Amino acid sequence: MPCYRCGARQTDPVRGASPWKRAVRREAQVLVCPDCQRVHDLDLDTCASCGSIALICRLGEIECRSCGEVRLARADEPLVTACSPGPARMPGLAAEVEAALDRVLGRS
Ligand SMILES: [Zn+2]
Ligand SMILES: [Zn+2]
Repeated sequence: MPCYRCGARQTDPVRGASPWKRAVRREAQVLVCPDCQRVHDLDLDTCASCGSIALICRLGEIECRSCGEVRLARADEPLVTACSPGPARMPGLAAEVEAALDRVLGRS
């Protein structure tokens, strides 16, 4: 993933911590190169509690690595729709298919 701001490519990480920073911008995970970290108008999402930009975006949540605050990403994220009930399951049929597969594949 290149730097979101200047497009620089991350070089192979040397031993130790990468100087690149992970941050969140408009609720998407981005990488910031060492040069751009010095810029002050980074336009990154900040933690509502402590104002830190050290945020991690994961599965519909934004977590602050400074104070540990976790908030949900916007409600229109895919995670929300993924939680809605899907088509009705037919457990009996699934079991039959599974049993048939076992016979075909010689599983016991
Ligand atoms: Zn950059
Ligand atoms: Zn925070």
